[in-house]
Amino acid sequence: MKKKFANQKEAKQLISKFGAEFAVVKNPGYIHPEYELYPLAPKIKKPVEALTASVMDMDGTTTTTEALCIHSLEFIIRKLSGRMIKQQWKGLDSVKDYPHIIGNSTTKHVEYLIEKYQKTFIHDQIIKSFLYAAGWTIIYGKDAKRKDEVIQNLKDFNCSALLKDQKLIKLNPSSLPDDDDEVQICDYLFSQFSVQFKKSDFNSLVRIGIDVYYQRYHEILERIKLGEGKFIADNLFGDPEKHLIEAMPGIEIFLPMIKGLITSNEDIYFDQLLIDYEIKSGKKFPKKNIDKKRSTFKKLCNYFINDPLKVAVVTSSIFYEADVVLREVFKIIYAKLDKMIPVVDDKIKILNNFKDYRNYYDAVITASDSNEIRLKPHRDLYSIALYKLNIPREKFTQVVGFEDSESGTIAIRAAGIGLSIAVPFAETSGHNLKAATYICKGGLPEVILKHNLFR
Ligand SMILES: [Mg+2]
Repeated sequence: MKKKFANQKEAKQLISKFGAEFAVVKNPGYIHPEYELYPLAPKIKKPVEALTASVMDMDGTTTTTEALCIHSLEFIIRKLSGRMIKQQWKGLDSVKDYPHIIGNSTTKHVEYLIEKYQKTFIHDQIIKSFLYAAGWTIIYGKDAKRKDEVIQNLKDFNCSALLKDQKLIKLNPSSLPDDDDEVQICDYLFSQFSVQFKKSDFNSLVRIGIDVYYQRYHEILERIKLGEGKFIADNLFGDPEKHLIEAMPGIEIFLPMIKGLITSNEDIYFDQLLIDYEIKSGKKFPKKNIDKKRSTFKKLCNYFINDPLKVAVVTSSIFYEADVVLREVFKIIYAKLDKMIPVVDDKIKILNNFKDYRNYYDAVITASDSNEIRLKPHRDLYSIALYKLNIPREKFTQVVGFEDSESGTIAIRAAGIGLSIAVPFAETSGHNLKAATYICKGGLPEVILKHNLFR
Protein backbone atom coordinates (compact mmCIF):
# COMPACT_ATOMS: atom_id res chain seq x y z
CA MET A 1 0.00 0.00 0.00
CA LYS A 2 1.75 3.13 -1.25
CA LYS A 3 -1.20 5.54 -1.11
CA LYS A 4 -1.04 8.15 1.62
CA PHE A 5 -4.17 10.18 0.79
CA ALA A 6 -7.50 9.20 -0.69
CA ASN A 7 -10.62 10.99 -1.82
CA GLN A 8 -14.00 9.78 -0.59
CA LYS A 9 -14.52 7.38 -3.48
CA GLU A 10 -11.07 5.86 -3.07
CA ALA A 11 -11.50 5.71 0.68
CA LYS A 12 -14.75 3.76 0.20
CA GLN A 13 -12.93 1.26 -1.98
CA LEU A 14 -10.11 0.87 0.50
CA ILE A 15 -12.49 0.42 3.42
CA SER A 16 -14.63 -2.11 1.57
CA LYS A 17 -11.57 -4.39 1.30
CA PHE A 18 -11.50 -4.62 5.08
CA GLY A 19 -14.63 -6.69 5.23
CA ALA A 20 -18.35 -6.64 5.73
CA GLU A 21 -18.75 -5.78 9.40
CA PHE A 22 -17.73 -2.68 11.32
CA ALA A 23 -17.99 -1.43 14.88
CA VAL A 24 -18.86 2.22 15.44
CA VAL A 25 -17.05 3.54 18.50
CA LYS A 26 -18.04 6.95 19.79
CA ASN A 27 -15.27 9.33 20.86
CA PRO A 28 -15.40 11.89 23.70
CA GLY A 29 -16.27 15.48 22.77
CA TYR A 30 -12.66 16.65 22.47
CA ILE A 31 -11.62 14.10 19.85
CA HIS A 32 -11.81 14.27 16.08
CA PRO A 33 -13.60 12.56 14.46
CA GLU A 34 -16.85 12.02 16.32
CA TYR A 35 -16.52 8.24 16.00
CA GLU A 36 -14.10 5.56 14.80
CA LEU A 37 -15.06 2.82 12.37
CA TYR A 38 -13.38 -0.48 13.15
CA PRO A 39 -13.33 -3.21 10.53
CA LEU A 40 -14.06 -6.38 12.46
CA ALA A 41 -12.20 -9.60 11.72
CA PRO A 42 -14.68 -12.09 10.20
CA LYS A 43 -16.02 -14.49 12.82
CA ILE A 44 -14.43 -17.92 12.70
CA LYS A 45 -15.97 -20.96 14.36
CA LYS A 46 -12.67 -22.73 14.92
CA PRO A 47 -9.01 -21.68 14.82
CA VAL A 48 -7.41 -22.16 11.42
CA GLU A 49 -4.82 -24.91 11.95
CA ALA A 50 -3.91 -25.18 15.62
CA LEU A 51 -4.60 -22.70 18.41
CA THR A 52 -1.40 -20.94 19.49
CA ALA A 53 -2.49 -18.21 21.89
CA SER A 54 -5.21 -17.09 24.27
CA VAL A 55 -5.82 -13.42 25.10
CA MET A 56 -8.09 -12.83 28.06
CA ASP A 57 -9.79 -10.01 29.88
CA MET A 58 -9.18 -9.70 33.64
CA ASP A 59 -12.25 -8.33 35.41
CA GLY A 60 -15.37 -10.43 34.79
CA THR A 61 -13.46 -13.13 32.88
CA THR A 62 -10.49 -14.12 35.06
CA THR A 63 -11.57 -12.42 38.29
CA THR A 64 -14.26 -10.26 39.72
CA THR A 65 -13.77 -7.17 41.85
CA GLU A 66 -17.42 -6.24 41.48
CA ALA A 67 -18.11 -5.94 45.22
CA LEU A 68 -15.28 -3.44 45.57
CA CYS A 69 -16.18 -1.38 42.52
CA ILE A 70 -19.82 -1.06 43.56
CA HIS A 71 -18.78 -0.13 47.08
CA SER A 72 -16.41 2.57 45.75
CA LEU A 73 -19.07 3.94 43.39
CA GLU A 74 -21.72 4.28 46.06
CA PHE A 75 -19.08 5.78 48.29
CA ILE A 76 -19.11 8.82 45.96
CA ILE A 77 -22.80 9.49 46.65
CA ARG A 78 -22.46 8.85 50.36
CA LYS A 79 -19.52 11.24 50.61
CA LEU A 80 -21.00 14.03 48.49
CA SER A 81 -24.34 13.85 50.28
CA GLY A 82 -22.87 13.30 53.75
CA ARG A 83 -24.65 9.98 54.33
CA MET A 84 -21.82 7.97 55.82
CA ILE A 85 -23.66 5.87 58.41
CA LYS A 86 -25.80 2.87 57.55
CA GLN A 87 -29.04 4.37 58.81
CA GLN A 88 -28.67 7.30 56.41
CA TRP A 89 -27.92 5.27 53.29
CA LYS A 90 -29.86 2.20 52.22
CA GLY A 91 -27.60 1.35 49.28
CA LEU A 92 -27.91 1.49 45.51
CA ASP A 93 -30.86 -0.10 43.75
CA SER A 94 -29.61 -3.38 42.28
CA VAL A 95 -32.36 -3.46 39.64
CA LYS A 96 -32.41 0.18 38.56
CA ASP A 97 -28.81 1.27 39.23
CA TYR A 98 -26.59 -1.79 38.64
CA PRO A 99 -27.01 -2.04 34.84
CA HIS A 100 -25.67 1.54 34.60
CA ILE A 101 -22.69 1.13 36.89
CA ILE A 102 -21.22 -2.22 35.85
CA GLY A 103 -19.31 -3.23 32.71
CA ASN A 104 -18.80 0.22 31.20
CA SER A 105 -16.08 2.84 31.70
CA THR A 106 -15.63 4.44 35.12
CA THR A 107 -16.52 7.83 33.63
CA LYS A 108 -19.85 6.51 32.32
CA HIS A 109 -20.66 4.90 35.67
CA VAL A 110 -19.91 8.11 37.56
CA GLU A 111 -21.88 10.27 35.10
CA TYR A 112 -24.95 8.11 35.68
CA LEU A 113 -24.68 8.34 39.46
CA ILE A 114 -24.06 12.11 39.53
CA GLU A 115 -27.04 12.73 37.26
CA LYS A 116 -29.33 10.58 39.38
CA TYR A 117 -28.21 11.63 42.87
CA GLN A 118 -27.00 15.21 42.30
CA LYS A 119 -30.02 16.69 44.11
CA THR A 120 -28.96 15.07 47.39
CA PHE A 121 -25.43 16.54 47.38
CA ILE A 122 -24.38 19.12 49.99
CA HIS A 123 -22.12 21.95 48.84
CA ASP A 124 -19.61 21.77 51.72
CA GLN A 125 -19.48 17.99 51.45
CA ILE A 126 -18.58 18.22 47.76
CA ILE A 127 -15.63 20.47 48.58
CA LYS A 128 -14.48 18.35 51.55
CA SER A 129 -14.73 15.14 49.52
CA PHE A 130 -12.74 16.56 46.65
CA LEU A 131 -10.00 18.08 48.80
CA TYR A 132 -9.56 14.89 50.80
CA ALA A 133 -9.51 12.65 47.70
CA ALA A 134 -6.97 14.99 46.07
CA GLY A 135 -4.76 15.21 49.17
CA TRP A 136 -4.90 11.44 49.71
CA THR A 137 -3.97 10.71 46.08
CA ILE A 138 -1.02 13.10 46.19
CA ILE A 139 0.39 11.67 49.44
CA TYR A 140 -0.59 7.98 49.40
CA GLY A 141 -1.50 7.27 45.75
CA LYS A 142 0.71 4.84 43.84
CA ASP A 143 -0.25 5.63 40.26
CA ALA A 144 1.55 8.52 38.52
CA LYS A 145 -1.18 9.14 35.92
CA ARG A 146 -3.84 9.36 38.62
CA LYS A 147 -1.74 11.94 40.47
CA ASP A 148 -1.40 13.96 37.26
CA GLU A 149 -5.18 14.01 36.82
CA VAL A 150 -5.69 15.15 40.40
CA ILE A 151 -3.09 17.91 39.97
CA GLN A 152 -4.93 19.03 36.83
CA ASN A 153 -8.23 19.16 38.73
CA LEU A 154 -6.66 21.11 41.59
CA LYS A 155 -5.48 23.69 39.06
CA ASP A 156 -8.86 23.90 37.36
CA PHE A 157 -10.68 24.22 40.68
CA ASN A 158 -8.33 26.96 41.82
CA CYS A 159 -6.89 24.87 44.66
CA SER A 160 -3.36 24.05 43.48
CA ALA A 161 -1.92 25.71 46.63
CA LEU A 162 -2.83 22.40 48.31
CA LEU A 163 0.15 20.84 46.55
CA LYS A 164 2.51 23.03 48.54
CA ASP A 165 0.72 22.79 51.87
CA GLN A 166 3.40 22.00 54.44
CA LYS A 167 1.12 20.16 56.85
CA LEU A 168 -0.07 17.86 54.07
CA ILE A 169 3.39 17.25 52.62
CA LYS A 170 4.67 16.20 56.04
CA LEU A 171 2.21 13.27 56.31
CA ASN A 172 3.94 9.88 56.25
CA PRO A 173 3.14 8.24 52.87
CA SER A 174 3.70 4.72 54.23
CA SER A 175 1.14 5.02 57.04
CA LEU A 176 -2.45 5.18 55.71
CA PRO A 177 -4.82 7.47 57.63
CA ASP A 178 -7.55 5.85 59.75
CA ASP A 179 -11.11 7.20 60.16
CA ASP A 180 -10.13 9.76 62.82
CA ASP A 181 -7.18 10.99 60.77
CA GLU A 182 -9.52 11.35 57.80
CA VAL A 183 -11.90 13.64 59.71
CA GLN A 184 -8.97 15.79 60.86
CA ILE A 185 -7.41 16.04 57.39
CA CYS A 186 -10.81 16.82 55.84
CA ASP A 187 -11.52 19.64 58.29
CA TYR A 188 -8.03 21.06 57.93
CA LEU A 189 -8.07 21.08 54.10
CA PHE A 190 -11.57 22.56 54.12
CA SER A 191 -10.45 25.38 56.44
CA GLN A 192 -7.49 26.15 54.18
CA PHE A 193 -8.85 25.80 50.65
CA SER A 194 -12.66 25.89 50.55
CA VAL A 195 -12.82 29.66 49.84
CA GLN A 196 -10.92 29.29 46.58
CA PHE A 197 -13.04 26.39 45.37
CA LYS A 198 -15.47 27.58 42.74
CA LYS A 199 -16.90 24.82 40.55
CA SER A 200 -20.07 22.77 40.88
CA ASP A 201 -21.33 22.25 37.30
CA PHE A 202 -22.08 18.72 36.09
CA ASN A 203 -18.71 18.02 34.44
CA SER A 204 -16.83 19.21 37.51
CA LEU A 205 -18.95 16.98 39.72
CA VAL A 206 -18.12 14.03 37.48
CA ARG A 207 -14.40 14.78 37.80
CA ILE A 208 -14.73 15.08 41.57
CA GLY A 209 -16.72 11.83 41.61
CA ILE A 210 -13.96 10.06 39.69
CA ASP A 211 -11.31 11.34 42.13
CA VAL A 212 -13.39 10.17 45.12
CA TYR A 213 -13.99 6.79 43.46
CA TYR A 214 -10.33 6.09 42.74
CA GLN A 215 -9.23 7.33 46.15
CA ARG A 216 -11.55 4.85 47.84
CA TYR A 217 -10.83 1.97 45.46
CA HIS A 218 -7.06 2.43 45.70
CA GLU A 219 -7.20 2.78 49.46
CA ILE A 220 -8.90 -0.61 49.72
CA LEU A 221 -6.48 -2.20 47.24
CA GLU A 222 -3.58 -0.79 49.26
CA ARG A 223 -5.02 -2.30 52.44
CA ILE A 224 -5.50 -5.67 50.71
CA LYS A 225 -1.85 -5.46 49.65
CA LEU A 226 -0.88 -4.83 53.27
CA GLY A 227 -2.73 -8.00 54.29
CA GLU A 228 -5.77 -6.26 55.80
CA GLY A 229 -8.23 -7.92 53.39
CA LYS A 230 -10.14 -9.79 56.10
CA PHE A 231 -10.45 -6.69 58.24
CA ILE A 232 -11.78 -4.69 55.27
CA ALA A 233 -14.21 -7.46 54.27
CA ASP A 234 -15.58 -7.57 57.81
CA ASN A 235 -15.80 -3.80 57.99
CA LEU A 236 -17.54 -3.29 54.64
CA PHE A 237 -19.60 -6.43 54.24
CA GLY A 238 -19.82 -7.85 57.77
CA ASP A 239 -18.05 -11.04 56.67
CA PRO A 240 -14.29 -11.46 57.18
CA GLU A 241 -14.26 -14.54 54.93
CA LYS A 242 -15.79 -12.73 51.96
CA HIS A 243 -13.26 -12.53 49.13
CA LEU A 244 -13.08 -8.92 47.94
CA ILE A 245 -11.49 -10.26 44.79
CA GLU A 246 -12.79 -13.60 43.46
CA ALA A 247 -11.53 -16.08 40.88
CA MET A 248 -14.02 -16.82 38.10
CA PRO A 249 -15.36 -20.41 38.12
CA GLY A 250 -13.22 -22.77 36.04
CA ILE A 251 -10.23 -20.43 35.73
CA GLU A 252 -8.19 -22.68 38.10
CA ILE A 253 -8.61 -25.54 35.59
CA PHE A 254 -8.51 -23.54 32.37
CA LEU A 255 -5.20 -21.76 33.03
CA PRO A 256 -3.08 -24.83 33.91
CA MET A 257 -4.71 -26.85 31.12
CA ILE A 258 -3.89 -24.48 28.23
CA LYS A 259 -0.28 -24.27 29.42
CA GLY A 260 0.00 -28.06 29.25
CA LEU A 261 0.50 -28.34 33.00
CA ILE A 262 -2.13 -31.01 33.65
CA THR A 263 -0.18 -34.22 33.09
CA SER A 264 -1.89 -36.59 35.55
CA ASN A 265 -4.99 -36.93 37.76
CA GLU A 266 -7.19 -35.48 35.03
CA ASP A 267 -10.27 -36.95 36.74
CA ILE A 268 -9.79 -34.67 39.73
CA TYR A 269 -9.66 -31.56 37.53
CA PHE A 270 -12.62 -32.80 35.51
CA ASP A 271 -14.77 -33.32 38.62
CA GLN A 272 -13.94 -29.80 39.78
CA LEU A 273 -14.83 -28.49 36.33
CA LEU A 274 -18.30 -30.04 36.62
CA ILE A 275 -18.77 -28.26 39.95
CA ASP A 276 -17.59 -24.97 38.40
CA TYR A 277 -19.94 -25.45 35.46
CA GLU A 278 -22.86 -25.76 37.85
CA ILE A 279 -21.81 -22.67 39.83
CA LYS A 280 -21.45 -20.61 36.65
CA SER A 281 -24.47 -21.77 34.66
CA GLY A 282 -26.81 -22.56 37.54
CA LYS A 283 -27.52 -26.06 36.21
CA LYS A 284 -25.96 -29.51 36.34
CA PHE A 285 -24.03 -30.79 33.34
CA PRO A 286 -26.16 -33.49 31.59
CA LYS A 287 -25.31 -36.88 33.17
CA LYS A 288 -25.51 -38.90 29.99
CA ASN A 289 -22.61 -36.97 28.42
CA ILE A 290 -20.25 -37.10 31.36
CA ASP A 291 -18.27 -40.27 30.54
CA LYS A 292 -17.64 -39.17 26.99
CA LYS A 293 -16.62 -35.67 28.09
CA ARG A 294 -14.29 -37.10 30.70
CA SER A 295 -12.23 -38.85 28.06
CA THR A 296 -12.33 -35.81 25.72
CA PHE A 297 -11.09 -33.66 28.59
CA LYS A 298 -8.16 -36.02 29.14
CA LYS A 299 -7.26 -35.85 25.44
CA LEU A 300 -7.45 -32.07 25.51
CA CYS A 301 -5.10 -31.89 28.52
CA ASN A 302 -2.68 -34.23 26.69
CA TYR A 303 -2.89 -32.14 23.54
CA PHE A 304 -1.75 -28.97 25.35
CA ILE A 305 1.23 -30.79 26.92
CA ASN A 306 2.82 -30.84 23.46
CA ASP A 307 1.31 -27.56 22.25
CA PRO A 308 0.94 -25.15 25.16
CA LEU A 309 -0.61 -21.77 24.37
CA LYS A 310 0.90 -18.36 24.85
CA VAL A 311 -1.36 -16.50 27.27
CA ALA A 312 -1.88 -12.77 27.80
CA VAL A 313 -4.17 -10.95 30.22
CA VAL A 314 -5.57 -7.75 28.72
CA THR A 315 -7.29 -5.26 31.01
CA SER A 316 -8.61 -1.70 30.94
CA SER A 317 -7.56 -1.36 34.58
CA ILE A 318 -4.40 0.62 35.21
CA PHE A 319 -1.25 -1.35 36.13
CA TYR A 320 -1.45 -0.54 39.83
CA GLU A 321 -4.95 -2.03 40.09
CA ALA A 322 -4.22 -5.02 37.85
CA ASP A 323 -1.09 -5.82 39.85
CA VAL A 324 -2.95 -5.96 43.18
CA VAL A 325 -5.95 -7.81 41.71
CA LEU A 326 -3.85 -10.43 39.87
CA ARG A 327 -1.68 -11.04 42.95
CA GLU A 328 -4.82 -11.69 45.00
CA VAL A 329 -6.51 -13.90 42.44
CA PHE A 330 -3.38 -15.98 41.91
CA LYS A 331 -3.25 -16.53 45.66
CA ILE A 332 -6.80 -17.89 45.44
CA ILE A 333 -6.00 -20.09 42.40
CA TYR A 334 -2.86 -21.36 44.12
CA ALA A 335 -4.82 -22.30 47.24
CA LYS A 336 -7.50 -24.07 45.19
CA LEU A 337 -4.93 -26.09 43.23
CA ASP A 338 -2.93 -26.87 46.34
CA LYS A 339 -6.04 -28.31 47.99
CA MET A 340 -7.19 -30.16 44.88
CA ILE A 341 -4.04 -31.78 43.53
CA PRO A 342 -2.73 -34.84 45.41
CA VAL A 343 0.98 -35.01 46.10
CA VAL A 344 2.36 -36.16 42.79
CA ASP A 345 5.53 -35.45 40.82
CA ASP A 346 4.12 -32.47 38.93
CA LYS A 347 2.33 -30.77 41.83
CA ILE A 348 5.24 -28.47 42.68
CA LYS A 349 5.78 -27.64 39.02
CA ILE A 350 2.12 -26.67 38.58
CA LEU A 351 2.01 -24.64 41.78
CA ASN A 352 5.19 -22.75 40.87
CA ASN A 353 3.39 -21.33 37.86
CA PHE A 354 0.78 -19.82 40.18
CA LYS A 355 3.08 -18.49 42.91
CA ASP A 356 3.22 -15.22 41.02
CA TYR A 357 1.08 -14.16 38.07
CA ARG A 358 4.26 -13.10 36.25
CA ASN A 359 5.43 -16.74 36.30
CA TYR A 360 2.30 -17.72 34.43
CA TYR A 361 1.50 -15.05 31.84
CA ASP A 362 3.54 -14.47 28.69
CA ALA A 363 2.28 -10.88 28.63
CA VAL A 364 0.29 -8.55 30.90
CA ILE A 365 -1.34 -5.58 29.18
CA THR A 366 -3.04 -2.86 31.20
CA ALA A 367 -4.51 0.60 30.59
CA SER A 368 -1.10 1.97 31.62
CA ASP A 369 0.30 0.58 28.32
CA SER A 370 -2.10 2.86 26.46
CA ASN A 371 -4.31 5.83 27.29
CA GLU A 372 -7.79 6.34 28.76
CA ILE A 373 -9.09 7.38 25.31
CA ARG A 374 -7.80 4.20 23.63
CA LEU A 375 -9.19 1.53 25.96
CA LYS A 376 -11.74 -1.14 24.96
CA PRO A 377 -13.77 -1.13 22.70
CA HIS A 378 -10.77 0.33 20.82
CA ARG A 379 -8.44 -2.34 19.52
CA ASP A 380 -5.21 -1.02 21.05
CA LEU A 381 -4.81 -3.17 24.16
CA TYR A 382 -5.39 -6.37 22.18
CA SER A 383 -3.08 -5.19 19.39
CA ILE A 384 -0.37 -4.57 21.99
CA ALA A 385 -1.00 -8.09 23.36
CA LEU A 386 -0.59 -9.67 19.92
CA TYR A 387 2.62 -7.71 19.44
CA LYS A 388 4.00 -8.70 22.82
CA LEU A 389 3.15 -12.35 22.14
CA ASN A 390 4.98 -12.02 18.82
CA ILE A 391 2.06 -13.16 16.68
CA PRO A 392 2.07 -11.85 13.08
CA ARG A 393 -1.17 -10.76 11.39
CA GLU A 394 -1.47 -13.91 9.25
CA LYS A 395 -1.54 -16.01 12.44
CA PHE A 396 -4.40 -14.11 14.15
CA THR A 397 -6.69 -16.95 13.03
CA GLN A 398 -4.88 -19.15 15.56
CA VAL A 399 -5.74 -16.94 18.51
CA VAL A 400 -8.78 -17.06 20.80
CA GLY A 401 -9.99 -14.12 22.89
CA PHE A 402 -12.22 -14.17 25.99
CA GLU A 403 -14.30 -11.28 27.32
CA ASP A 404 -17.40 -10.80 29.48
CA SER A 405 -18.55 -7.43 28.09
CA GLU A 406 -19.80 -5.79 24.91
CA SER A 407 -16.83 -3.45 24.57
CA GLY A 408 -14.39 -6.29 25.18
CA THR A 409 -15.83 -8.64 22.57
CA ILE A 410 -15.71 -5.78 20.03
CA ALA A 411 -12.09 -4.91 20.94
CA ILE A 412 -10.99 -8.51 20.30
CA ARG A 413 -12.43 -8.53 16.77
CA ALA A 414 -11.31 -4.96 16.08
CA ALA A 415 -7.78 -6.22 16.79
CA GLY A 416 -8.22 -8.84 14.07
CA ILE A 417 -9.15 -11.91 16.12
CA GLY A 418 -12.16 -13.71 14.64
CA LEU A 419 -12.60 -16.17 17.49
CA SER A 420 -14.09 -13.82 20.10
CA ILE A 421 -15.73 -15.65 22.98
CA ALA A 422 -18.17 -14.02 25.38
CA VAL A 423 -18.25 -15.45 28.89
CA PRO A 424 -20.84 -13.12 30.43
CA PHE A 425 -21.50 -13.10 34.14
CA ALA A 426 -24.56 -11.98 36.03
CA GLU A 427 -23.62 -8.29 35.87
CA THR A 428 -22.86 -8.22 32.13
CA SER A 429 -25.71 -10.51 31.08
CA GLY A 430 -27.62 -7.45 29.79
CA HIS A 431 -24.79 -6.50 27.39
CA ASN A 432 -25.14 -6.71 23.63
CA LEU A 433 -22.68 -9.50 22.83
CA LYS A 434 -23.35 -9.83 19.13
CA ALA A 435 -19.68 -9.20 18.30
CA ALA A 436 -18.87 -12.57 19.88
CA THR A 437 -18.60 -15.77 17.85
CA TYR A 438 -19.93 -17.79 20.78
CA ILE A 439 -21.75 -16.66 23.90
CA CYS A 440 -20.95 -19.14 26.68
CA LYS A 441 -23.16 -18.44 29.67
CA GLY A 442 -21.52 -21.40 31.41
CA GLY A 443 -18.22 -19.48 31.21
CA LEU A 444 -14.86 -21.20 30.88
CA PRO A 445 -16.27 -24.57 32.05
CA GLU A 446 -18.67 -24.45 29.10
CA VAL A 447 -15.84 -23.51 26.74
CA ILE A 448 -14.06 -26.73 27.74
CA LEU A 449 -17.01 -29.09 28.28
CA LYS A 450 -19.26 -28.13 25.41
CA HIS A 451 -16.84 -26.69 22.84
CA ASN A 452 -13.70 -28.69 23.62
CA LEU A 453 -11.88 -25.35 23.42
CA PHE A 454 -12.86 -25.09 19.74
CA ARG A 455 -10.70 -28.04 18.67
MG1 LIG B 1 -14.49 -7.49 31.80
